[in-house]
Amino acid sequence: ADWPLSKVRSTFLSYFTSPPRSHTPHPSSPVAPLNDPTLLFTNAGMNQFKSLFTGTLPPSSPLFSLSRAANSQKCIRAGGKHNDLDDVGRDTYHHTFFEMLGSWSFGDYGPGEAVGWAWELLVEVYGLRPERLYATYFEGDEDVPADTVSRDLWLKYLPADRVLPCSRADNFWEMGETGPCGPSTELHYDLVGGRDASPLVNKDDASVIEIWNIVFISYNRDAAGLRPLPKAHVDTGMGLERLAAVLQGKSSNYDTDAFAPLFAAIASESATGAAYRGRVGEADGDRVDTAYRAVADHARALAFALADGVVPSNEGRGYVLRRILRRGVRYGRQTLGCGEGFFGRLMPTVVEQYSDAYPELRKNQANILSIVEEEEQAFSSMLVKGIKFFETVVAKPETVASRQISGADSFFMYDSMGFPIDLTTQMAEEADLTVDLPAFQSCMDIQKTRSREERKAKRSAPGEVALELIAEQTSYLADRGVHITDDSP
Ligand code: ATP
Ligand code: MG
Ligand code: MG
Ligand code: MG
Repeated sequence: ADWPLSKVRSTFLSYFTSPPRSHTPHPSSPVAPLNDPTLLFTNAGMNQFKSLFTGTLPPSSPLFSLSRAANSQKCIRAGGKHNDLDDVGRDTYHHTFFEMLGSWSFGDYGPGEAVGWAWELLVEVYGLRPERLYATYFEGDEDVPADTVSRDLWLKYLPADRVLPCSRADNFWEMGETGPCGPSTELHYDLVGGRDASPLVNKDDASVIEIWNIVFISYNRDAAGLRPLPKAHVDTGMGLERLAAVLQGKSSNYDTDAFAPLFAAIASESATGAAYRGRVGEADGDRVDTAYRAVADHARALAFALADGVVPSNEGRGYVLRRILRRGVRYGRQTLGCGEGFFGRLMPTVVEQYSDAYPELRKNQANILSIVEEEEQAFSSMLVKGIKFFETVVAKPETVASRQISGADSFFMYDSMGFPIDLTTQMAEEADLTVDLPAFQSCMDIQKTRSREERKAKRSAPGEVALELIAEQTSYLADRGVHITDDSP
């Protein structure tokens, strides 16, 4: 059968909404969570049902009586606990923006149904080859016992050597630092076949990818730790683009119809005729391919985020969006030879392709266009200067000797050229260099102290935005093991 993206999506929904499964179709929530300060972006379908899991939903809520639901949820994983931004473009199956097909039982059915239906849908409806599937289950640790229930359920369908115990890192799912969580069981698919792929499961190998995650939400994590919930729930999430790749016989999500129109649009923007050849890796020749993937991914993320009212700014999720845009614009202009304004010109392609499923894109098209144009233009002038400056830095004898971009130079890129530190770090990697992040951090500290003093001196808060910006960069550094001493106000 032929499996265009829209049919993959609708097949999932009709499977779960039809009897005997009878899930209620529920709309995707926006990519910016409505009422959840613990989340930067919606990172999974279950986010909007958080209080249904914890049992804290008021009975007056329209969701209160929901016992089963299914949808395709718009997700962004570019900040917080689930942050894939660094991998995006470099691999074939992590996006910043993606759609997650989800099904839920709110204290209703349990693991037996969840596992049985997952198998039936994948093998009998979608027609995946059973001999290519692997299941994982939580092996247990000091806090939570092994999920032998899932193991035994999979053994009805799969031989024992394809039912694999995995640790907390992969098989205990948590939405954030706090919130509902639980052991998960996952299905992985071998894109190659004819081999024992079990050693490659959960090993960052692009030929064996995780497609479906089934979480048994049975705990809540709060400041005090893990507490069992009064009721057990089922929460499943499957990457639409990954499933489409499998069904379309592709080894990369970017080779599916989810991205084809965007790739064509990017190709027509390239003045140098840079063409996509689908290679993956860090070698010199792959840089064009990485840039194609990143630009296409980032164009989708911008269009969807703007349609949901997120606006680029210097703080919080707005700054994440700004970083994604600058990353995309830099790849397009420098690596693909795209002309000024190319990123904005990609927006109609996204709107056109996805408005049937997500009408908010068409509705907000004018806004999406004008905000991207403005953002792109503001960065464009600095981009050219920044790239020139970066090239002089790369050629400096100190840089050549230390193989490192200094704190002062990376701070200048950030402070005067508008290059977020992750962008400079990435450009450094392309030049086979690193960035002296601790020294960059010291420069930030100095600026932070200075803006605090200025604030005190003026008895007003002119440094507010700068401080927020610093907080964002600080968390980026903290993720990479660089910490600053906070000399609080
Ligand atoms: P991975 O281990 O591949 O990073 P994950 O375990 O972090 O995936 P989950 O949190 O379990 O992902 O999300 C449920 C499903 O959503 C995954 O099984 C996968 O199919 C899909 N998915 C997760 N992250 C991404 C992403 N960045 N881009 C595209 N699909 C994704
Ligand atoms: Mg992940
Ligand atoms: Mg995983
Ligand atoms: Mg997972």
